[in-house]
Amino acid sequence: MDRQKICLVTGGAGFIGGHMVDYLVCSNYKVIVVDACTYAANPLLIKELENNPEVIFIRGNIEDKDLIAKILEEYSVDVLINFAAETHVDNSIENPKTFLITNILGTFSLLEASLNYHEKKIKADFKFIQISTDEVFGEVGDDLMPFNEKTNYEPRSPYSASKASADHLVRAWHNTYGLPTIITHCSNNFGPGQNKEKLIPKIILNAVSGHRIPVYGDGENTRDWLYVTDHCAGILLAAEYGVVGERYCFGGDNQFRNIDLAKKVCARLDYIYPSLAGNSYADQIKFVEDRKGHDRHYAVDYSHATRSLGYKPTSKFEVCLDDTINYYLEHADKL
Ligand code: NAD
Repeated sequence: MDRQKICLVTGGAGFIGGHMVDYLVCSNYKVIVVDACTYAANPLLIKELENNPEVIFIRGNIEDKDLIAKILEEYSVDVLINFAAETHVDNSIENPKTFLITNILGTFSLLEASLNYHEKKIKADFKFIQISTDEVFGEVGDDLMPFNEKTNYEPRSPYSASKASADHLVRAWHNTYGLPTIITHCSNNFGPGQNKEKLIPKIILNAVSGHRIPVYGDGENTRDWLYVTDHCAGILLAAEYGVVGERYCFGGDNQFRNIDLAKKVCARLDYIYPSLAGNSYADQIKFVEDRKGHDRHYAVDYSHATRSLGYKPTSKFEVCLDDTINYYLEHADKL
């Protein structure tokens, strides 16, 4: 039987990290979570992690290099997957400094601790996986060519600039010091457990609480929606079979204009949880002043990940949307 592998998941009390913990446990990994439990951590998930015998949950900051170094050695970690980040673009526009501290300096601390650990050769095949975003590529141009691993970095928001900076550090630590790193770029994730500040939870929660459903600008901006467990599957493939020094793009094949997405969510809500007044929730949609520097289109070409890792998103958007809606209907008061 294969030896049980050990994975350190930073940011594991957040949306994607939380799903990744489940995915790793189901894939026979022993998981250690380090999370600073900022406002973005999911309070329901924190309780679950604290009570999960398969997981060691440590409240801690990725900027704490000594803590990370101690954990890497104490548990002889095989793979570190870094999800910990400040992630909301709107917040990055209002308060960029926290993004620079967590996303850039936090990643720097993880790299320093990981290099020190790697050089001790405790685990010969140790890997550092950095969870990046497709937003580091800026926006798809007029030719509508999707991003791929050869696309130039052209971040346009403080959030994406901080994520791009972190990627550059990760690449430098690989090229300069030989740290075995892999970077993954995904499109917009959705699914249960995402913070309510993000678009899909906001549409659902505003709809059922009778508030307006804000859509930025003219609603024509397009995003590619990736179901979170498809993303986790891609990350695990990259961690297990990815080539060190490489980058992999993951998309979901679900490109919608924001206004169409809002209407889709409202239409499913009309069916699952009809409004008492008998109106469609879509009546609550209101166009609001556009986000500053709002990227127009994102699209991801994941053919490299398909060819080299066998990655392919398999989830059906409509089914996953219903699951997501049901999660928020059930947990709205606890989030
Ligand atoms: P999230 O905001 O839901 O969770 C982030 C987690 O990181 C939280 O639990 C928070 O407490 C933790 N954290 C923040 N600062 C920390 C620190 N200094 N030390 C330790 N923990 C800290 O984020 P998410 O949506 O799950 O995103 C995870 C990763 O995926 C991020 O790196 C993000 O940039 C990337 N990403 C997300 C999406 C998406 O659609 N959600 C898309 C592309 C890339």
